[in-house]
Amino acid sequence: MIVFNTLTRKKGELIPINDNLVKMYSCGPTVYSRAHMGNMRAYIFMDTLRRVIKFNGYNLLGVMNITDVGHLTSDADEGEDKMEKAAKKTGKSPWEIAEHFTDLFLKDIARLNIERPEVIAKATDHIPEMLSFVEGLVEKGYGYETSDGIYFDIAKFPSYGKLSGNSHLDDNIAGARVDVNTEKHTPADFALWKKAPKEHIMQWDSPWGRSYPGWHIECSAMGRKYLGDTFDIHTGGVDHIPIHHENEIAQSEALLGHPAVNYWMHVEFMQVDGKKMSKSLGNTYTLDELEEKGYSPMSFRYFCLNTHYRKKLNFTFEGMESAKIAYSRLKALVDESKASSQQADEKIISEFKENFLNAVNDYLNIPLGLGHLWMLLKNPPAKNIYEAVIWADKVLGLSLDKDESSELTIPEEVKAIAEERLAARKEKNWAKSDELRNKLSELGYMVKDSKDGYELEKK
Ligand code: AMP
Ligand code: ZN
Repeated sequence: MIVFNTLTRKKGELIPINDNLVKMYSCGPTVYSRAHMGNMRAYIFMDTLRRVIKFNGYNLLGVMNITDVGHLTSDADEGEDKMEKAAKKTGKSPWEIAEHFTDLFLKDIARLNIERPEVIAKATDHIPEMLSFVEGLVEKGYGYETSDGIYFDIAKFPSYGKLSGNSHLDDNIAGARVDVNTEKHTPADFALWKKAPKEHIMQWDSPWGRSYPGWHIECSAMGRKYLGDTFDIHTGGVDHIPIHHENEIAQSEALLGHPAVNYWMHVEFMQVDGKKMSKSLGNTYTLDELEEKGYSPMSFRYFCLNTHYRKKLNFTFEGMESAKIAYSRLKALVDESKASSQQADEKIISEFKENFLNAVNDYLNIPLGLGHLWMLLKNPPAKNIYEAVIWADKVLGLSLDKDESSELTIPEEVKAIAEERLAARKEKNWAKSDELRNKLSELGYMVKDSKDGYELEKK
């Protein structure tokens, strides 16, 4: 299995520390709001990697964190705590916000066939582990105290910046922002621990008074707790390379005296009009919004799988439409083979299996794997073709064995409006009927009236 390592900038064989167990850590969501489809691209990548690892016969121990404290509005530790900000805005407690969005996140990933990692670790459940990590760093001279927290001194860690190639040592403090923290030794020094102002709801006792963890420390501390001092793979989005993951590397290596992670793997952005899909740019979509427009979770998954994870993926509704059509065609072809009692030549099957395995093992070339699948399905339908598809679907996770295509499902909301319109027509209330037709149209549906009822079609 060939993988690309961001740290070495090279492709190479994945060689796990333990013969048949791969240990992997994935940066998870900050649960202050609903995860969007850009985030979901990152978790579909994580899931695909997990599936390919298992496909190769390895056991897997995967950890994903849930950030429910300490992630400030800028990844570089400036601004407010995202959880507290959301709490203030809604009048709920940060704990309630965290529970609500964690729950939604776990439901969303299940709808996208993203398997839950073996361990889901919440930051607030690991305060003692984080605190002792920071105390260790301070004892070793890597952490220093300022009036608002404990900071990591990047100048004491000479290889700082090795993941991104930017050491940040020359960053100009005056050129940065108005509210720069001038007590820092170097502008890019980052917060290990933050002293809590009175109004900060989430706070704990520490040697430095009431306080709360910085964002980066949770991943170092929880990764170590569940996966040990050195583990195989760490994943995240490319936005984490220059700050969050540099900081994780610095914290862990400074404390342990050796690298904690062997392979760093990062997924490229999902973009909208050339810009990262992100909450701050206001260009996000959620899974519910896609479904309302008639796109199922599986067509989104197909949309993602069709582009290599290291390429930028532009989100467009034309792209979603093509993915939706392709997925339902694929599904229809698979169903034909499922229903068939014929057998294809075994050579066709074994060639497909070899090609598919080679593709996914060549640093997760899933688009090529899908290409081989389409080629296989060009053959006349056959039972053993169906069996081979289901074998490949262990990697793809596209529910190709499910009977009914969820693509054909019309959202409940749309159905309800159509029924209401039918009732209005029966009552000859044409004004209301027209009004409801417009409403359906706004939701992306055309309604065709027939003698006894209607048919709905996606526009
Ligand atoms: P966050 O909740 O902001 O910490 O992000 C959760 C995960 O989603 C991280 O691994 C990010 O790198 C990733 N991510 C955020 N936005 C995008 C995007 N537009 N495309 C791909 N991954 C993203
Ligand atoms: Zn992380």
